[in-house]
Order: sequence, then structure tokens, then C-alpha cells
Amino acid sequence: MLSVHQKRRISQVIGENRPVVIISHINPDGDSIGSSLAFAMYLKKHELDVTVIIPNEVPEFLNWLPGYELVKIYSKSKGACIDMVANAGTIFLVDFNDPDRLGGLKDYLEKSDAFKMLIDHHQRPVEFTDTTISEPWRGSVGEMIYLLIKDMGDQQLIDKNIATCLYVAIITDTGNFRYGSSYSEIFSIAGDLVEKGIDKDMIFSLVYDSYSVERMKLLGYCMSEKLVVLQKYHTAYIYISKEELNKYNHQVGDTEGFVNVPFSIKGVKVTALMIEKSDHVKLSLRSKGPFSVDRFAAEYFSGGGHINAAGGQSDISLQETTKRFEELIARHADEIV
Ligand code: 5GP
Ligand code: MN
Repeated sequence: MLSVHQKRRISQVIGENRPVVIISHINPDGDSIGSSLAFAMYLKKHELDVTVIIPNEVPEFLNWLPGYELVKIYSKSKGACIDMVANAGTIFLVDFNDPDRLGGLKDYLEKSDAFKMLIDHHQRPVEFTDTTISEPWRGSVGEMIYLLIKDMGDQQLIDKNIATCLYVAIITDTGNFRYGSSYSEIFSIAGDLVEKGIDKDMIFSLVYDSYSVERMKLLGYCMSEKLVVLQKYHTAYIYISKEELNKYNHQVGDTEGFVNVPFSIKGVKVTALMIEKSDHVKLSLRSKGPFSVDRFAAEYFSGGGHINAAGGQSDISLQETTKRFEELIARHADEIV
């Protein structure tokens, strides 16, 4: 996975003993937190001073992960995070392809003299680092961190804690080995992680069975009242207003996974979740088969991601966004098969 040059660079980072910062994207998910923490704990085994910076709040279903004490949240401790970015010798950017996904941190990253390395699996990474490891065919960055550690000859340093974080990264980004995991290597990696002693059932429970009653009711409400199925276009979408989120006492991470639920409907190939935020609408897009939601998000919603999972945003109202989405889907109907 690593080029000779990248391997040498990481050896140098390990040898030089300067502070390391690992940064991942806004609205963190299991892969961004899991792979960042696994990598941080690995580097700590080499006695490095490592911090993980996340632009905004981490959902509760992820804050139990081993090593979580290494996380600093930029929106809560701006000054400290800005100093760490300025003083870092190396900054690893993990699980995103565009510095715009860092929110306000982007400016400080640009100002920093640190050596910057991107480790990512999204399509078409923007060139904003000194070196890039981009493997868009991988289901998760978790796998890439596992392979990086192995390439460095340090597989024996993967302990139960690191393995737990890597496993969370892999299961959350592949929907438990459903998406982006059609190659055997991912199962041998998962097998190795199980051999490291992880408690896979407990992990599953902590990630998927720890939501609030309100979240379950919000899901029920969305499915009964806010789901639109465009049978003709094999498409289904859900749209939720701020008011509705408030009514169900919405907490960060509560709508995680909603976008996948309409795939249970026979014939549905494309799904979308539109959530009204204070100054924009956040879109999550998913597809089954060849229709690229990455391209669709990039072309119409200033976003991107993977062929079958992407996100973006819209600056018009929620109602107008649903209308525009329907028009765009109609325009692309012949690609949705
Ligand atoms: P989600 O819908 O879960 O927020 O994101 C799906 C995938 O698309 C994730 O891999 C995420 O990193 C990526 N993604 C989400 N929103 C954006 C965006 O606004 N821009 C880009 N480039 N990628 C996004
Ligand atoms: Mn990812």
C-alpha cells in the first residue's frame, strides 16, 4: 500500500519525535474516528506525542472507543487545536478528500508548516497535502491503517484496542460488510482483528444498539410521514426540518443510517436523506449499482464521496431542495437501472 517514499517518510516521522496531529472530517463517522484513533494509538506505541482533532461533535455511539481521550474537538477548544496544528511536525489527514470538509480548521491547516499526508478512500482527492495515499476501492480507511501498520513491519503492535478501533471503522463504513467489501482481503483483515481478541458482539452492540427512544421514534415518524418514493425512478428520499428534529430531541448522530432504510423497499436503487440545518440543507445520497452518487453530489450539491455513498449540501430551502432533487433524478432516470 505504501510507496517506498511514503514508508521512509513515516519512519522519519516516528524517528524525529515531533508532535503529530491527526485530523479527520466534520460530522465524524465510525471510519473517521476509528481509523484516526487506531493510527494515533499505533504512533503512541512509538512514543510520539499524538492528538486527534475532529472539527465538531462526536456522536455518543463512538465516544466509548479505546483511545478516545486523545480526541480534541475543534468547535469546543479552538485555541488549543489551533496551537497544536501550528506546532505539529506532521499532520495526517484521514478519511476525506477535500479540505472544505474541515470547516474553520481549513485556514489553520493551510498556514501550518507541518508535513501533511492524506490517507483516504474517497473518489478524486483534491491535492492539498505534501503526499497522498488514495485507495478509492477500499471500503474504509480502517483497512488502509491496518495495511499501513503492516507495511511498516509493525503488525505485532496492533493490540486489542487498536483492533477494536479498526473493526469499528470497517463495519461502519461497509454497513457490516455489505458495501465496498466485495474482495476477500477485507475478510482476512477482519479475521486478523478478531484474532487480536476484540469482542465483536460487544462492539456491535455499542455501535448499533445504543440509541435513544426519541431516535427510534424519529425514525418511525420519518418512515411514516417523511418518506417519498418515486417508483418510476427507483428512488426514495426522506426530508426532515429543524423543527421536526427538535421535536424529537435530536442528538448528534441520531439520523445516522436513516438513508439506508428505504433500500429495503423492492426496486429502490437510489436513496437520499435531506436534513435542514441553520443555513443549508445537508444531503446524504446512496445508490445500489452503477449510478454514481459521488458524481451527482459533485455536480449538483457541492459534494462528493464514493460511487455508492456520497454527501453534499444545498443552499435553497428544504422544500425547494426536494423539488430540485426530484427534477434532477428525473433528468438522470435512464442511468438508474
Ligand atoms: P454521509 O452521507 O454519511 O454524510 O456521507 C457519505 C460519504 O460521502 C462519506 O464518505 C462522506 O465522507 C462523504 N461526504 C459527505 N458529505 C460530503 C461533502 O459535503 N463533500 C464531500 N466531498 N464528501 C462528502
Ligand atoms: Mn470512510
